[in-house]
Amino acid sequence: MENTLAVPPGGHSVLVRVTDIRQYAYCPRVVYYTMVVPVPRPVTFKMEYGVDAQQHVEALEMRRKLRRYGLHSGERHFRVDLESPRLGLSGQVDLVLLTPDEAVPVEFKHTERPVSKNHRLQVAAYALLIEERMERPVRRGFICRLPSGRLQQLACGPVERQQALEIAASVRAMLHTQSRPGPTGVRARCTDCEFRRYCADVE
Ligand code: SF4
Repeated sequence: MENTLAVPPGGHSVLVRVTDIRQYAYCPRVVYYTMVVPVPRPVTFKMEYGVDAQQHVEALEMRRKLRRYGLHSGERHFRVDLESPRLGLSGQVDLVLLTPDEAVPVEFKHTERPVSKNHRLQVAAYALLIEERMERPVRRGFICRLPSGRLQQLACGPVERQQALEIAASVRAMLHTQSRPGPTGVRARCTDCEFRRYCADVE
């Protein structure tokens, strides 16, 4: 699906990271506290264990069959850097499965919790970037949960793609105005949020 949001001449000067789309969909303030007024925060699994852990995950992945993705054959491309001024997006997808007929993004998640909407938008944003760069259609993506390796297939349809682009536009606007967005509407997320102490207005 074509990007239906306006593209400035020469493309966007500010590229929004796909991880920020995921986080903004979870709670806009998380991106504000990360990018506009950075506050101290705990390290993530990927930050703490870095390249070694990623290589371990990739070695495990190479021993798995492509059949589990519904593919007979294909190439695996790990940690693929992507960016597009036209889309105004950038990011690094953990794995792209490439066949002559399609490209399939896969994100590794160090959690067994259910996949939520923000992950769907993340995969949809990667789909847009991959189609532009790799010139293959992206019809689906996967979340691979670690350590179990359990897969969940996600759609990358026009609705998810458009929502991802709209969130990217919101992130860009927030960076421009530097104003703090409202809190998440799902207040249960605030209970054990690492930024809770900065959100005095949520109960
Ligand atoms: S405490 Fe709630 S509103 Fe504040 S950043 Fe966390 S999830 Fe968002």
